[in-house]
Amino acid sequence: MKGICILGATGSIGVSTLDVVARHADHYRVVALTANNNVEVLYQQCLTHHPEYVVVAAEDKADAFREKIAASPVADIKVLAGADALQQVATLDQVDSVMAAIVGAAGLLPTLAAAKAGKTVLLANKEALVMSGDIFMQAVKESGAHLLPIDSEHNAIFQCMPGGYVAGSNAKQARRILLTASGGPFRTTPIEALDDVTPEQAVAHPKWDMGRKISVDSATMMNKGLELIEACLLFTMSPDDIQVVIHKQSIIHSMVDYVDGSVLAQMGNPDMRIPIAHAMAWPDRFDSGVEPLNIFDVKQMDFEEPDLQRFPCLRLAYEAIKAGGIMPTVLNAANEIAVDAFLHERIRFTEIANIIENTMSQFSADKADSLEQVLRADQQARDAAERLIETLVV
Ligand code: NAD
Ligand code: MG
Repeated sequence: MKGICILGATGSIGVSTLDVVARHADHYRVVALTANNNVEVLYQQCLTHHPEYVVVAAEDKADAFREKIAASPVADIKVLAGADALQQVATLDQVDSVMAAIVGAAGLLPTLAAAKAGKTVLLANKEALVMSGDIFMQAVKESGAHLLPIDSEHNAIFQCMPGGYVAGSNAKQARRILLTASGGPFRTTPIEALDDVTPEQAVAHPKWDMGRKISVDSATMMNKGLELIEACLLFTMSPDDIQVVIHKQSIIHSMVDYVDGSVLAQMGNPDMRIPIAHAMAWPDRFDSGVEPLNIFDVKQMDFEEPDLQRFPCLRLAYEAIKAGGIMPTVLNAANEIAVDAFLHERIRFTEIANIIENTMSQFSADKADSLEQVLRADQQARDAAERLIETLVV
């Protein structure tokens, strides 16, 4: 029986994780759930899963939530508040596995704390890895934590790696990764029309049902850019050995090309419960609740090279990882600010890439040797991106 802590329990990945947990009450016990401010969903999750602890990260929502729990049938749940409490629950003794499913940089400190404490880290929160890079991978190595990718592509690549493969190590006979992408909702939209797309159009993903931020990232293909950086770190690969492939059916979730010419692919229906169940059961397997793939429904699989003119964010991610140092941190921070501005209708869709490119041009790729340097670069890049947005808005 393993104890699990779900950081970001109320989000798309958190909800899918609880769905898998509920199928395997004999394997997993929910120790802690966390949310930012969606306390209605968190309350229902408390009634169903009865964790020992919950964290409400948004402090202004915590008192009312505590009172509601105190008057509920699950009054023994300990309610903690604020960002520091996220680290506390991620490192509890009774926690074996931590699902890192907070969106964005807010997930870095608790995810890193879990890695340092030697927990099994189920990593969905790609921004945490992209911004902290080698510091995160080093923490995993030093503590001996297991790191299992949840991002469907990286989980697919992990599954295609040789038996016994450990994330962060060098799979010598794997010469190339083929990182698949759906191409998002604007794969074939005329480029001129991209200026006028709305947040609602951008978050309507054709294949995956996800949170708003990652959905916009999919539409700009920054999601694939972040995943490119994530793959370089998780699989110790050079960006030149990672080919992004647009595969609109989203049935193959990525491939590994070996020196003998064998290409291994992982396939499945596009449902995040598959990689979640894989990582939760690893090195075994168990049921995810997803329908078996009907191969006869697939009929056809297409593969295209991405157009970097249409998707400048993908080009910027290649540039950031090649520059190294703090540049991926800067790319990620500027993207978070720009996407938020787009979702609040402060800037146009096509301005997202401009803001990121302009922010990156204000930084040099200084080494990122410490967490303090990473956090400083993250803050400076956010401020720089915000200033650029203000000049556009007035
Ligand atoms: P989401 O927006 O649906 O959920 C985000 C969760 O994080 C919520 O529980 C929210 O309460 C919490 N959160 C947000 N801001 C917070 C803060 N400041 N402090 C504490 N908690 C906070 O997002 P999602 O789609 O579930 O994605 C979560 C992560 O998983 C992202 O990093 C995303 O890139 C990654 N991911 C998601 C999918 C997917 O299918 N949704 C696939 C691959 C990777
Ligand atoms: Mg993905």
